[in-house]
Amino acid sequence: MKPNPFCYLLTLLFFTQISFAQITVDDPEIKKMITEVKAESLENTVKKLVSFGTRHTLSDTKSKTRGIGAAQQWVKSEFEKYALESNGRLTSKIDYFTIKADGRRIAVDSQLGNVMATLKGTDSGDDRVLIISGHLDSRVTDVMDAKSDAPGANDDGSGVAAMMELAKIMSKRSFPYTILFVAVTGEEQGLYGARHLAELAKQENWNIVAMLNNDMIGNSLSSGTNLRDNTKVRVFSEATPYLETEDEAKMRKLTNRDNDSPSRLLARYIKTATDQYVDQLEVNLVYRNDRFLRGGDHTPFSQNGFTAVRFCEMNENYNHQHQDLRTENTVKYGDLPEFMDFEYLRKIAASNLATLANLAWAPKSPTNVGIEVKDLTNFSTLAWKAADNKKTYGYQVLIRETSATNWEKMIFVTDTNATIPYSKDNFLFAVQAIDELGHASLPVFPVPIR
Ligand SMILES: [Zn+2]
Repeated sequence: MKPNPFCYLLTLLFFTQISFAQITVDDPEIKKMITEVKAESLENTVKKLVSFGTRHTLSDTKSKTRGIGAAQQWVKSEFEKYALESNGRLTSKIDYFTIKADGRRIAVDSQLGNVMATLKGTDSGDDRVLIISGHLDSRVTDVMDAKSDAPGANDDGSGVAAMMELAKIMSKRSFPYTILFVAVTGEEQGLYGARHLAELAKQENWNIVAMLNNDMIGNSLSSGTNLRDNTKVRVFSEATPYLETEDEAKMRKLTNRDNDSPSRLLARYIKTATDQYVDQLEVNLVYRNDRFLRGGDHTPFSQNGFTAVRFCEMNENYNHQHQDLRTENTVKYGDLPEFMDFEYLRKIAASNLATLANLAWAPKSPTNVGIEVKDLTNFSTLAWKAADNKKTYGYQVLIRETSATNWEKMIFVTDTNATIPYSKDNFLFAVQAIDELGHASLPVFPVPIR
């Protein structure tokens, strides 16, 4: 039986309709799931992935023991094991597709495959989808070398292992959302697997609320600068949406929404969930879609108009990334498990889990969120529509100064409007719906009501 914070909230509401206390209700079930994420289990998964020798996108697809084909079959067989404890709700497949030779990183027409597990939502009337991914393919120094050993322990065995760990833990529970766990392929050759999936989602009009890409999340020592830090993780999110209509751009400029794209709102949500549920891990919000001039598997999702972010370790080690296995002047090169920090990987997997579980149990985001602008006043009035009467217990108005990285205040209300003593000239706002266990929807940034 879960303890019910309802009474606590009621007490607050008895004294005042608007409470200034921050509501941080810990859901014991999420806490329990987080204890089920094990560094040892993640390590075993990474070592198993490495055992396929290479997982290069264009490597052997027929062998049972070596190459991308064998790795795909193994990931699928693991998903099938998890399915046994899912009450028939977890199904898996390898989604094959053909990529034409591109004169760049695909030499000949090739059949690629994303390994996917779908944890069906419990409510057939709820079409919301969450996606978590890592990329299964690996590489060495020459991106076209499909024969040499390319262990890809951290890049991206780490992301795949985290995704699989969550599939195992989450498939034992039920959520209204549908959650897609994906080991994409073709990342190193040009984000082919993720692009295929993003375009499919766009074509079929999937209601993707959030996409979490995990790529290199298990190394805590930087090359060259020798920084060792396993207490911070980067979450990359685009500043302005890749896909933005002229009207949306106009509205963004009008409302100074330059730091509140849907992906940025998701990144802050991750930071809040991580602060709440994961010890000794701080989310470092990086205000760009990906590393300088680079992209990742979330990028095609952003380009197709979806809300998507990338988790990535704080400091990268270029001796162990995209390198042939070798020793030069006593320095060992190559992406091997021995260079990884599995406790760090556990914490980042837990951060993904706290985010996904909170979202997957959350009510729908409020709609028509607006801010009144007809009068000059030092109060701000926000109003919105309930999207989900079934689960919504109330709403949180989030408040921060324009220069703050994350929300600084949350005001809880049960109504669908709030007048608060914070001037819209000095603060930014958003509104999210929450249920009685504190699971919050993604916040919605308001538009002016005239
Ligand atoms: Zn990668």
